[in-house]
Amino acid sequence: MTGIPLSCPDITESEIQAVTDVLRSGRLSIGPRQARFEEMIADRTERRRGVAVSSGTAGLHLVLTALGIGPGDEVITTPFSFIASANSILYVGAKPVFVDIDARSLNMDPAKVEQAITPETKAILGVEIFGDPTHMERLAQIAGAHEIPLIEDCCEGLGGIYKNRPLGSFGRAAVFGFYPNKQITTGEGGMIVTDDDKLADICVSLRNQGREDMSLHDPGCDIASGSWLSHGRLGYNYRLSEIASALGIAQMERLDDILQARRNVAAMYMAQLMGWDDLILPNIHENESRSWFVFVVRLSDLYGQTERDRIVQGLRRHDIGASNYFPCIHLQPFYRKRFGYDRGTYPIAESVSQRTVALPFFNQMDETRVELAVHTLKVMLQREQLLLNRDA
Ligand SMILES: *Cc1c(COP(=O)(O)O)cnc(C)c1O
Repeated sequence: MTGIPLSCPDITESEIQAVTDVLRSGRLSIGPRQARFEEMIADRTERRRGVAVSSGTAGLHLVLTALGIGPGDEVITTPFSFIASANSILYVGAKPVFVDIDARSLNMDPAKVEQAITPETKAILGVEIFGDPTHMERLAQIAGAHEIPLIEDCCEGLGGIYKNRPLGSFGRAAVFGFYPNKQITTGEGGMIVTDDDKLADICVSLRNQGREDMSLHDPGCDIASGSWLSHGRLGYNYRLSEIASALGIAQMERLDDILQARRNVAAMYMAQLMGWDDLILPNIHENESRSWFVFVVRLSDLYGQTERDRIVQGLRRHDIGASNYFPCIHLQPFYRKRFGYDRGTYPIAESVSQRTVALPFFNQMDETRVELAVHTLKVMLQREQLLLNRDA
């Protein structure tokens, strides 16, 4: 690899072997590996059921659909997330109602969530952004008190634990994503987990074109019965292939090593960045075992978006992967146009989002690469300091 990428999947011989085995087996979709992968994620998150889907986004779409959320309904969610969490609400024709975040956890401020609840609120869609689990418990309490479901978008937190509970165990249903930059990958893929059998059964049907006969697993053999082509509801093709599932199983078998490798990289960054006045480092809470998704630092209030953008560009010019995770969803061109949002609507989310810098972060990162990324960041920061002082 030239330079240091922002992220990089961790694929070993065991993943390659697992995928090759599927290719040789002749069964490329709807088979035993999907079921095994579901079981592994459900066990890990202490849930009764896992439903594998083609992406995290598809998982969120199915959960909202299965809960019967649709036009006229409101779903409370965060403006500081990857766009998929809010888009899924639009897919079902409901309205995302954003509430501002807490500057420490970077997740929705629970007090503001309570204020935003109306008779039209049909769910809360909470995100564990960067794997931060605080507030999910509180959001579950608020949802419970109002008798509405909490949907947990834990796409960034597989394997994390908070107060002895795994991420993915807080919502009525929770959704993971397995894009190549996540803790584990299936290329593309996702997983719904829940204790609600009925909800899981509806999701199983919805991901498979609305088929109702759950006993059908082998289209080739069951075509004669006719029920393979009986569709009870409007469904989708959101299945996860056996190839992707095999990759997921091989990654899950290594999950503890993967999480440890990521903790080590995060610890190296923390040690090297500690004491820099200009930076706010990620918050780790008491009673928490963080599953690290990305390593995001925040510039202090001395800096603004212009400086941040120049720092990200500067890092990239030196072949150091960097990004502005995440631009606020309500300020995305499409949301502005459709809902008329303007700057200043969610000031905390906006202020945070203008100052974040995601640094290279992946399992195989060693001390030398961390040092190089930190050193380059330091040079970029010093340049901005000089520019600020000159302008002052
Ligand atoms: C990655 C991610 C998703 C969507 O995952 P895909 O598998 O890419 O569809 C949803 N929400 C959040 C917060 C994510 O980080």
